[in-house]
Amino acid sequence: MENIKNLIVGCGFSGATLAYKIATELNEPVTIIDAKNHIGGNCYDYTDETGVCVHQYGTHIFHTNLKDVWDFVSQFTKWNPYMHEVRGYIDGQEVPIPFNLNSIHQVFPKSIADKLEEKLISRFGFNVKVPILELRKVGDEDLTFLADYIYEKVFLHYTLKQWGMKPEELDPAVTGRVPVYISRDNRYFQDTYQGIPLNGYTPVIEKMLAHPLITVRLNTDFNQIKETVSYERLFYTGPIDEFFNYELGELPYRSLKFDFVTFNKPYFQSGSVINYPNNYTFTRIGEYKYFLDDKTDKTVVSFEYPQAFELGKNERYYPIVKDENQTLYNRYLEEANSLSNVYFLGRLGDYKYYDMDKAIARALALFEEIKGR
Ligand SMILES: Cc1cc2nc3c(=O)[nH]c(=O)nc-3n(C[C@H](O)[C@H](O)[C@H](O)COP(=O)(O)OP(=O)(O)OC[C@H]3O[C@@H](n4cnc5c(N)ncnc54)[C@H](O)[C@@H]3O)c2cc1C
Repeated sequence: MENIKNLIVGCGFSGATLAYKIATELNEPVTIIDAKNHIGGNCYDYTDETGVCVHQYGTHIFHTNLKDVWDFVSQFTKWNPYMHEVRGYIDGQEVPIPFNLNSIHQVFPKSIADKLEEKLISRFGFNVKVPILELRKVGDEDLTFLADYIYEKVFLHYTLKQWGMKPEELDPAVTGRVPVYISRDNRYFQDTYQGIPLNGYTPVIEKMLAHPLITVRLNTDFNQIKETVSYERLFYTGPIDEFFNYELGELPYRSLKFDFVTFNKPYFQSGSVINYPNNYTFTRIGEYKYFLDDKTDKTVVSFEYPQAFELGKNERYYPIVKDENQTLYNRYLEEANSLSNVYFLGRLGDYKYYDMDKAIARALALFEEIKGR
């Protein structure tokens, strides 16, 4: 039986953040494992033969209002100060998403657009995001027309593709993420700090793990080694239901399939992400060279197809936000809390959609909790 002081399962941002903190601040040895053959978890990227830095699990943009998290990650990288914009292919035009005042002026004749702009601002104010389901409830004829247009053209079919269900079946936390933005700001995020690590995400995680007290073991599934190791502390960023052998049932996830295609031309589309709410079965196309402004003759894009998650067949991407799933997760959490030296974190351990900054913040907070123990 191998004795490990701190065992971390998962080399994504959650696990790597914790490994770095334990090694550098507690001066304790850490063994961090990952079932995959690479570090970085879902944020893994690599420069392919065309010279483009490709995100293997879909486009990742770092954005945060948490200065401590920004400062933490900035120890390991300089940034390309990239401000993300998304456009949706709607009625034959690429319009800013979230749908904003510029989108309104792009798709409607001037007289209608001016009237809508005025009504939106007088009702809700300027520079606010109004969830689309809320806009629909107002009862004004013109705003109802706008709400129905956005609902139909931007939201409904995208949501059906993305989640494989109707918007009404979803938790408001998810539907609320699709707003009308009463603004001329075309950016997808308004966070103070935004960017792409200048050399990509993988080198950031590499640097976090480059400490003499940290041992990294790839191609190592916890399930295969758990009978052969003992640990003083275990930090688990894998799926919490898997840890408990699915004894209470499986936590549902939505999965994705990425079809990567290289085109023999400098650019494929007008920006890094174009959504296709109403056409095709994919939801969006990501073009990776925009993130670091890679100057190459060819370009790499991914077509993103949402899918049901099936154990052993594909990857877990998004937890499905529903009361019954949260209840099941809470029952696993109760079991987890009864284990004195095992801690769950990360998007799979907490069964929660985390942006990168929130995953890091959660790991930093957990470190503060355990460091005295
Ligand atoms: C399509 C998509 C796009 C996204 N875009 C953005 C974005 O633009 N901006 C943003 O901030 N966030 C984005 N995110 C979220 C981001 O990916 C997560 O915040 C981040 O990956 C969380 O890191 P983590 O370490 O918690 O989980 P992960 O990165 O998933 O790492 C968990 C690791 O644990 C390993 N593991 C699991 N089980 C075991 C086991 N039994 N044994 C060994 N290893 C195991 C896995 O292989 C994995 O490497 C996106 C997510 C998705 C799905």
